[in-house]
Amino acid sequence: MAENVKPPRGKRPRIPMKEQEASARIRNFSEVPLGYTPEEAVEEADRCLQCKNPTCISGCPVNINIKEFIGQIVSGDFRAAITTIKRDSSLPAVCGRVCPQEEQCELKCVMKKTNNPINIGGLERFVADWEAANPGAEAVLAEKKKDKAGKPVKIAIAGAGPAGLTVAGDLAKMGYTPVIFEAMHIAGGVLIYGIPEFRLPKVIVQREVDYLKRIGTEFHLNVVIGKSYTLDDLKQMGFKAVFVGVGAGTPMFLGIPGENLKGVYSSNEFLTRINAMKGFLFPEYDTPVKIGRRVAVVGAGNVAMDSARWSKRLAGVEEVSIIYRRSEAEMPARIEEIHRAKEEGVVFRLLTNPVEILADDKGWVRAVKCVRMELGEPDSSGRRKPVVVPGSEFEIGVDTVIPALGTKANRLLTSDVPGLKLTQWGNIEINEATGETSLPGVFAGGDITTGSATVIAAMGAGRKAAKAIDDYLQKVDS
Ligand code: FAD
Repeated sequence: MAENVKPPRGKRPRIPMKEQEASARIRNFSEVPLGYTPEEAVEEADRCLQCKNPTCISGCPVNINIKEFIGQIVSGDFRAAITTIKRDSSLPAVCGRVCPQEEQCELKCVMKKTNNPINIGGLERFVADWEAANPGAEAVLAEKKKDKAGKPVKIAIAGAGPAGLTVAGDLAKMGYTPVIFEAMHIAGGVLIYGIPEFRLPKVIVQREVDYLKRIGTEFHLNVVIGKSYTLDDLKQMGFKAVFVGVGAGTPMFLGIPGENLKGVYSSNEFLTRINAMKGFLFPEYDTPVKIGRRVAVVGAGNVAMDSARWSKRLAGVEEVSIIYRRSEAEMPARIEEIHRAKEEGVVFRLLTNPVEILADDKGWVRAVKCVRMELGEPDSSGRRKPVVVPGSEFEIGVDTVIPALGTKANRLLTSDVPGLKLTQWGNIEINEATGETSLPGVFAGGDITTGSATVIAAMGAGRKAAKAIDDYLQKVDS
């Protein structure tokens, strides 16, 4: 009898989410974590203490009512749970998978004190996937807004990443007609071209795009705002306001000799070829990804982990290493992604910094020359500064090098817009509360205003901007 008595809530261990074994998953491209069953989700949700003052909510950049949706899972009302989440987040199936919950809501969960926080991301993913399998009533839309001439009120959106998609969803629900212009041949931004299939299946992103189309969003692909049309052109075309959500897609490089050799890919090109252009399905898709036997990825953020883990899955690759100049404690990637990369056999060469990429006699990469580093005093980022160990040069034999150091603002749109204020890093300056830029009727949000950040931050910015665009249009109309 006694073994059936459950321990008190605060003492129950977190319900693990099943996932593919490392040895199996490096031979396929499918998602690694497999999600909760309804029984597991209810059991995990039932660990929640339902705090009187739920601190987890303040850890969520869009303030999802986490306590409420978890309570609804416990009562088995999954429809109510997804409705609660969707009040504040338009991409729960995405955020449940890729949000850094360990630094946000789960960090603030009171059970974090015992290292046992509720798996909030896992539960969000569960209800979002449940809804996809059990479609219900669609969102109630406001009556379509018309201008004085009886035409739909159109808002232009540059960029179809999480920021642009969120603005479109919110504006469509308010009755506007959002028109998205996307530079690539496919909508989704980093969700499509950056984050790998095995972390975020692309059908999930496509589902969101299809939904936006159903509620009246127009998509124009292969259109580069700043080149195909300027912001002024958009005004002339009759758009009442513009939202700029073009992300921060310019890759950063090491700036060392040999970076232009054959066999060096920027992480952007590497990931875009594989993800957005389906190089992982070559030759079914006509995108070859030429890769050697030994791959070195430089950097230790999410982009680096994604590049390394993709490399492990590509045919012919024998060794993949991460080269990083600081120690494990300073690695910026999500802990679970670092853990998975290790499980998959990625070698971590820490306190190591590349100083030159060396070529063979045909101009292909043959090695990376590195120096050993040690950590000195903290620098301006608060992290201990890596310092070169004198006389420590050595070579690592590799045939492919992928610098994955992060990205910065792409100036295609912003470089030639008189009056548009930019920060010293080339990001668009905005009013944080509204997304207003220095140009009337032009709003911005997401990575183009913050530099590379997170999906949920881009969505939160999109949400604020949609509300501000509505306020702005009501003002200019009255
Ligand atoms: P983006 O997603 O970059 O979308 C911008 C869109 O604008 C793109 O589709 C681009 O093609 C388009 N565009 C650019 N210029 C123009 C133009 N001139 N005209 C028209 N369209 C244009 N965040 C997380 O929260 N969790 C993660 O696990 C995570 N992993 C990541 C992994 C990788 C490899 C990368 C690169 C980023 C990752 N991020 C992660 C960061 C996150 O994806 C971004 O912060 C987020 O996508 C930013 O959204 P956005 O809408 O501002 O920009």
